[in-house]
Amino acid sequence: MLNKKLLIIIVAALFVTQSYSQEEEFIPDYTNTQTHSIVELKEQEFGVKPKNIILLIGDGMGVAQIFSGITANAGMLNINHMKHIGFSQTQSANKYITDSAAGGTAISTGQRVDNGAIAVDAQGKAIPTILEISEQNGKATGLVSTSAITHATPASFIAHQTSRKMYEQIAADFLKTDIDIFIGGGKNNFTKREDGKDLTKELKNKGYQVFTSIKDSENVTQAPIAIFTADEHNPRVAERGDMLIQATNKALEVLSTDPDGFFIMIEGSQIDWGGHDNSTPFIVTEMLDFDKAVGAALEFAAKDGETLVIVTADHETGGMAITDGSFEEKSVTGSYTTTGHTAVMVPVFSYGPGAEEFIGIYKNTEIFKKMMKMFDF
Ligand code: MG
Ligand code: ZN
Repeated sequence: MLNKKLLIIIVAALFVTQSYSQEEEFIPDYTNTQTHSIVELKEQEFGVKPKNIILLIGDGMGVAQIFSGITANAGMLNINHMKHIGFSQTQSANKYITDSAAGGTAISTGQRVDNGAIAVDAQGKAIPTILEISEQNGKATGLVSTSAITHATPASFIAHQTSRKMYEQIAADFLKTDIDIFIGGGKNNFTKREDGKDLTKELKNKGYQVFTSIKDSENVTQAPIAIFTADEHNPRVAERGDMLIQATNKALEVLSTDPDGFFIMIEGSQIDWGGHDNSTPFIVTEMLDFDKAVGAALEFAAKDGETLVIVTADHETGGMAITDGSFEEKSVTGSYTTTGHTAVMVPVFSYGPGAEEFIGIYKNTEIFKKMMKMFDF
């Protein structure tokens, strides 16, 4: 009798969970209740080439996603400060519509690979990434992500695997490059592994200080540092709070102590997930969070004067269109053509020394080439 009751409760609970998650999908409208302030930047002249590059990738962030953020923030984002604008064609080696592995790899290596591949060619051979090349040339390096740090976008800058799903192998690849700081979720890929290894121990043996929150790392600015902000992916912004802006500031604080300069990739991962869900609230809240990190990067670059900031996407997600909205109400209505990615080109915004280099329409691989030209190793 008791068991029967229990079973009914479990089935009922499953049903409720199921219908709740279905309700989560396709939410067309969002009204923002809180705008964020835009950083103030004064007009200034920059040199020809940067010492540092901050690359910010909004996963799945097309023009509609950005404009939904502009509307919901009452007409202005930090991105609006970036006056040099180009477009990136996001196709992969084997598909008209890329995934985030091939999309990330094009930007990190300058080569188009097949969907799913993490910085390896069709033969499975590793292709050097800008992060690895920067490290070899004496620059400090960093990765920040609101997903697991082993997920496709950050992975494509430091790992070499034939499939983006090889999370444990990707985690092991973090030990092969002397990356100075990385912050994101995905701790379980380092500690709960099929091979039984605890890679956080191996990180410590390599000299890393390993933390499970950004706050715990507060008094530590000496690289190398690994900060795991979640066991799996980080939760959505409502739950994770200002993790991304905190991580951005932490990483810039640590990396800027290197006199040789630095390269960092910072990802707003979940704009893409909002697109897959066809959820305007999901997209806009993640877009606004990402823009706060852009603001932190721009503020750093304006003060530093030798830092190039690039904001772009690996592809667009959702085929999002904006069918209604109001700057006064800070409201947006989204419409969607797919729950997958689309082929449309995505914007590239740049600020700082070398920003002029990034205007025009070009293939995603050119972003790598332009960044390399700016570093001039
Ligand atoms: Mg991603
Ligand atoms: Zn996606």
